Amino acid sequence: MPRKKRNDNKKFIVVTGGVLSGLGKGVAAATIGNLITKAGLRVIPIKCDGYLNVDPGTMNPVEHGEVFVLDDGGEVDMDFGHYERFLGINCKFNWNLTMGKVYEALRVKERRGDYLGKTVQLIPHVTDHIKEWFYKVADDEKADVVLIEVGGTVGDIENELYIEACRQLKREVGECNILYVHLTYIPIPTNVHEQKSKPTQQSVALLRERGIDPDIIIGRCSEYLDAHIKKKISTFCDVEENGVISGIDVDCVYKMPVIFSDEGINSIIKEKLCIDSGVSPEWKKLVDNLDKLEKTVNIAICGKYTKLEDSYASILEALKHCSANLKTKICVKMIDTEKVGSQADAKKLLEGIDGVIVPGGFGSRGIEGKIQIVQYCREKNIPFLGICLGLQLATVEFARNVCGLKDANTTEVDEKTKNPVIDIMPEQKEVKDKGATMRLGAYPAIMKPGTIIWALYSKQKEVSERHRHRYEVNPEYHEVLQKHGLVFSGMSPDGKLVEFIELPKEKHKYFVGTQAHPELKSKLEKPGPLFYGLVKACVE
Ligand code: GLN
Repeated sequence: MPRKKRNDNKKFIVVTGGVLSGLGKGVAAATIGNLITKAGLRVIPIKCDGYLNVDPGTMNPVEHGEVFVLDDGGEVDMDFGHYERFLGINCKFNWNLTMGKVYEALRVKERRGDYLGKTVQLIPHVTDHIKEWFYKVADDEKADVVLIEVGGTVGDIENELYIEACRQLKREVGECNILYVHLTYIPIPTNVHEQKSKPTQQSVALLRERGIDPDIIIGRCSEYLDAHIKKKISTFCDVEENGVISGIDVDCVYKMPVIFSDEGINSIIKEKLCIDSGVSPEWKKLVDNLDKLEKTVNIAICGKYTKLEDSYASILEALKHCSANLKTKICVKMIDTEKVGSQADAKKLLEGIDGVIVPGGFGSRGIEGKIQIVQYCREKNIPFLGICLGLQLATVEFARNVCGLKDANTTEVDEKTKNPVIDIMPEQKEVKDKGATMRLGAYPAIMKPGTIIWALYSKQKEVSERHRHRYEVNPEYHEVLQKHGLVFSGMSPDGKLVEFIELPKEKHKYFVGTQAHPELKSKLEKPGPLFYGLVKACVE
């Protein structure tokens, strides 16, 4: 990579983190992106992860949080959910760099002979490769602003090369085209009850040791940062006073653009990058709604990854979108379906619950409990939404208890079942590798006019949602299921795959399922239709 300046004036914002992980770097980056899109600029996020996996697709959601799926089928981490929701765009798989991807590409280049005669080294070859990746995404996407989030915390070995590449960017893109943002933590020890800046000073010292001087420091804190600490951070860390921003804890992340704006972040963005950022009025209105909730509903998420809420991150966000649009407070209860062994258990656990979601999942743990929950919802007329595995188990329950196929099952749980109503897709049978081999990404479905789901999707003929699964409703059982009253409200264009199911309005208040993951495309400004339908049914 030549060390000459790029002259296209694209802007780069680099977001790093310090002190602790889990401070909300993704949300902070997405918030800055949200404010900048208001200026009508095309903001493209790039996330750099230090791990050696190619993507998080094979990681356990309880360890890593939800795997987010993109339109192009890319499996990425939850931060992309924030980017899509805050920036209103569809991200792409190559906007996520992992060290797995970087080393894979370098190995190919080296074998091809791209480095003939040279010793391939971390610096400059890996860092050049990372920068080339940034520039290529920026050019391919015709970005005005590239928002680069470096995973982990400064000082982690695995992220050093990204930090070094981001340091080098400054000379290449020009000082007036780059903004460095550092997110840190401001503790308030209980014994002194005072905001403390030392961890921030030390974290910024680590960053400066690596050649990066931050322009903005966001201090995550349980309170607004007071003037005294802002001044102190400004002095010790050598940033402008208006560059120290409170990253206050909030009950809902959608408030962040309003908070950062009130904290004055737009003025420093203007000073450094000459961009007029701000909160859009529509966003502000929806956020204001969150403080004016008129009704309350209780929704249960019945799954097995209940120990870490992040496992169902996008579902929780989709519910917040409904909350703002329907001015309804949504209390979520997580139910571990391993604890449900009978209808009596279901009854007890669902007491006071207005609506139920059975989310996606893999493997056989907790499956029979989910089927008990579905049965209880169907028979007791409780609004129900089944997502992916949730649709599959709603189908199993219907086959068992309505169609009379007592031993119906999914072959994911029982390979030898006599009634495999849910079965692995034929093209999946030969697949051996586990990474990126599921039915992944956006697929269209043709809707059945007159159905509840068709109406919820604004009576569109065709809709598109994202998928991540290997199993499907077995075509051999389509007829018997429909004969007994299960409605297939949306099918794949070739008519072979069941994408949406429901029970008719006369039979049930709201009983719907989808083979897709509609939570992934839900937005504050436009909630996922099936979630909207669920919450509305609960309110009614
Ligand atoms: N385990 C099921 C399948 O692979 C469902 C997957 C999911 O819920 N995402 O088909």
